[in-house]
Formats: sequence, structure tokens, C-alpha cells
Amino acid sequence: MSTHTIPHVIGGRHTEGHGTRRSDVFNPATGEVACQVALGDAEDLEAAIAAARQAFPAWAETPPLTRARILFRARGLIEARSNDLAAIITAEHGKVLSDAKGEIMRGLEVVEFATAAPEILKGEYTEQVSRGIDAWTMRQPLGIAAGITPFNFPVMVPLWMAPMAIATGNCFILKPSERDPSASVLLADIFKEAGLPDGVFQVVHGDKDMVNGILEHSAIAAVSFVGSTPIAKHVYATGTAAGKRVQALGGAKNHAIVMPDCDLEKTVDALIGAAYGSAGERCMAISVAVAVGPVADPLVAMIAERARTLRVGPSTDEASEMGPVVTAQHRAKIRALVDSGVEQGATLVVDGRDLVVKDHAGGFFIGGSLFDHVTTEMEIYREEIFGPVLCVMRAPDFETALKLVNGSPYGNGTAIFTRDGDSARAFTHGVTAGMVGINVPIPVPMAFHSFGGWKDSLFGDHHMHGPEGVRFFTRMKAVTQRWPTGIRSGAEFAMPTHG
Ligand code: NAD
Repeated sequence: MSTHTIPHVIGGRHTEGHGTRRSDVFNPATGEVACQVALGDAEDLEAAIAAARQAFPAWAETPPLTRARILFRARGLIEARSNDLAAIITAEHGKVLSDAKGEIMRGLEVVEFATAAPEILKGEYTEQVSRGIDAWTMRQPLGIAAGITPFNFPVMVPLWMAPMAIATGNCFILKPSERDPSASVLLADIFKEAGLPDGVFQVVHGDKDMVNGILEHSAIAAVSFVGSTPIAKHVYATGTAAGKRVQALGGAKNHAIVMPDCDLEKTVDALIGAAYGSAGERCMAISVAVAVGPVADPLVAMIAERARTLRVGPSTDEASEMGPVVTAQHRAKIRALVDSGVEQGATLVVDGRDLVVKDHAGGFFIGGSLFDHVTTEMEIYREEIFGPVLCVMRAPDFETALKLVNGSPYGNGTAIFTRDGDSARAFTHGVTAGMVGINVPIPVPMAFHSFGGWKDSLFGDHHMHGPEGVRFFTRMKAVTQRWPTGIRSGAEFAMPTHG
């Protein structure tokens, strides 16, 4: 077992900090402890805030074009180091390498969007709002912003936030997941190498104590959070009560409606990837398929055949389609939920609970499971399983299916598979979710749009990145300007009055 400790990055320096607590970081493919992460304490947070306070005035005054040039360099460096980043993600998270590279690419797109800083920070201007009076708006940075991120996208989610915060002139403190914290340290090194001044992007590790420290600290103006719904609710309530701006993205239970007229083969392909890719540990994973009418039997049969032959193995093996889940506890939770599905009367068509991967008996592997005849009272429907488990429900018609989707307390992503434009249009118009796919199973918006769910999947007013990200990390100032006639009309000798 290695004893190396993953450091914080405070004021441009790697440091194990003041806090003495440590947390184990596992290699999920072997089940071994790979290293430990330093869990910071209040003094470590204070040190990061002091460095950010020092860096902020100069960074806020730095022209957006200069900020953009640093982001351009960071973009090139992230691309050049993408194999290293992917290897780190895979070693600590467990997702397969091709998937890790995909997440880096989606994060990189936000860096690319943020390089448009001079353009995205433009205000609006109205000439002559009254005689001789003009008005305009401008957007200015908030100060120090913090980001708190989940384990499932250790590069992409920090990159949803940091480039936006930095491009708009803020200092940003990242508190990554303690389960896979190494990638954020490499990101900090990359930003430094790109020329970002010390203190503008920092990493402070920790668990709930550090999160609560961030939420209570008066120097932090805004908190961007991504994680599970109960924690998102807590972060939103506590952060806003402390006067902060908060965007808190929560969990999900994403439904796909499968219409009888869909292209069944393509739909099955899409559902297999969306349900079992990254071992189901994606907030945009499809975990419920609602089969409408006669499509249910062939759909279940075709998914079952594919789910049984999923290639589950170590993530570094190019042949693996699915790696392990993140921890032994998480696997135990997934198994217990599958047990509950059986007890509560769902039909377990494919059972992945006891899968063992050859030569990796200690790894946190679990096979893909498929349930049919799932109903809304069952725990497997109500809970976010966050594992490789797909629940199939049956609906007699489109209206019943849509009602079912809209009855979910979550509203992150959703999709419909159909060849009928009218059904697709009615779905898009009527569904209560923030991101909608038409024959697209995981409709993650591109960086120049914004990412976010509805209902219990997001607390706050702003979605992530894109135009919403610019609004979240800036405050607006509206200016009304009048220049009284002065030198243009010649010298005045009388005492000026306001007549
Ligand atoms: P999590 O809620 O356990 O942890 C998220 C962050 O909160 C971590 O940094 C963690 O250290 C911190 N945290 C954990 N417990 C805490 C507590 N009691 N008090 C304060 N802070 C605490 O989430 P996770 O397991 O790391 O990630 C998976 C979850 O994230 C899933 O629910 C998934 O749907 C969600 N997620 C949502 C999105 C989205 O865009 N909506 C994206 C990715 C992941």
C-alpha cells in the first residue's frame, strides 16, 4: 500500500495543510487503498481564502482578453495532458479509459467557451434613453466563489464551474470529492503552468466539515454545488441563509419513453450505453425505460440479451465496456436495492449482483441488472440507485407514460425514442425536466448552452456553464449617464446652478 498523501493546492503551492485527518482513496478495480487524501480544516480554508483575497483585486482588474489568453493556454495543456488525466480518473473512479477521455473532452468544451470572455462579458447599451442620456449594463465578478463536486466526474464537473468563474474575474476554490481527488490537483498545476496567478484557482480537500466551513464563511460570495439531492438541499438552504448565491445540482432518476414506432435496434443500443455506461454512475444515466404498448416484450428481450453479455472488467483493459463502481459501500447499497426490487415484486430479468471478474476478486465489480414490471411504489423506482440497474415500466399509451415521467420528484434529463414528430413535440412541450433528448439518450447540453435540471434535481436559479454560468458568476450593474454641456459650448463664467 502506498502512503502518499494527495495535497491541497493553496496559494500556488502543494501542501498537506494544517488538518491532520486523512481519508483513504481506493483503486476500485483492485479494492486496494491507493493513497490517502489530506482532509483540510478551518485553518486550511482560511489560508486559501487569504490567498484568494490577495489575488482577487488584480485578477478582477485583468482585462478579459488577458484572462482568455491564459484559458487558451490551459486548453492546450489539458489536451496535451489528457492521457495523464484520464489515467488518474480511471485509477480512482473506475470508469473505462475511453469514458474518462470523453469526460475530459466535455470539460474542455467549457474551457473553450470561457475563452470567449471578452464576448460573453459584453453588456447591453441603449443610446438616448432620454434627451442626452444613455444607459448600459455591465457584469462584474462576485469575488471569491467555491465549487463542491461529486465523485462521478472528477474532471468534467470542476470544469463546468472553474473556467466560468475565472473568465468572469473571480477567484475559485474547489472542494473536490474525497473519493477521487487527484485529478483536481493536476488541473491546478495545469492552470498554474498556463500562467494563472496564484490564488485564482485553488484546491482544498475535505468532507462534510469542509463543505460546512465553506457554506458558513462570510468571505465566500457564491457556491456552485453538484452532488446528491439531500446534500444539494442542505447546501442551498445553508448557503443562501448565509447570504450567498448558490446553485446546487442534485440527483436524478432519468426516464426514457420508448414508443412502439421507434427504431428498436438503435433504441436498445442507446439504452444499453445510457443505463450501463460508467456502471450507471452518471447523473444523466437512463435508469427507467417506459415502454409504451406492444414494444415492451421485444424491448425487454433485446436489452436482456445485451445486458447479459456486457463486458465488465478492469477499466484499463480496452475490451471492458463497464468498470467497477466507486467503493465497496456503494456496491453493497446497489446490491441491497436490487434485493429490495425482488422482494417488492419486480421481475429480475438479468441479475448482476454476484458477478466476479477473473483475477480481480477484490475489485468493486457488479454486473448489469435489468428489472421488468417495475411500479412507482417500489424502492428501486423511488431511490436513485446510481449503479448499473435499468428498470422497465409499462404504459398503455403516450399520455400515461408522460404522466408517469412527470410524477417523478426529479427532473434532470429525459428522452423519447420515436419516429413520430408529433409525439416528440408533445413530449418536449409537456415534460417537466430540464434537459430533453429526442432519440438522444443522454442529452447533455453543449458548453455554449447551459446544463441543469428541474424540481429536486436543481436548487437555485441558474444552470451550469454557458450563458447561465456567466450570470451566476457575475453581478449586473446598470449605468445611466448624462453629461451636462460643459466645455463644448465654451467657457462659463456664471456660478453653475441646476436649472
Ligand atoms: P454526494 O452528495 O455524496 O457528494 C457531493 C459532495 O458533497 C462531495 O464533495 C462530498 O464531499 C460532499 N458531501 C457529502 N456528504 C456531505 C454532507 N453530509 N454534508 C456536506 N457535504 C457533503 O454525491 P456523490 O456520491 O459524490 O455523487 C453522486 C451524486 O451526484 C448522485 O446523486 C448524482 O446524481 C449527483 N450528480 C448530479 C449531477 C447533476 O448535474 N445534477 C451531476 C453529477 C452527479
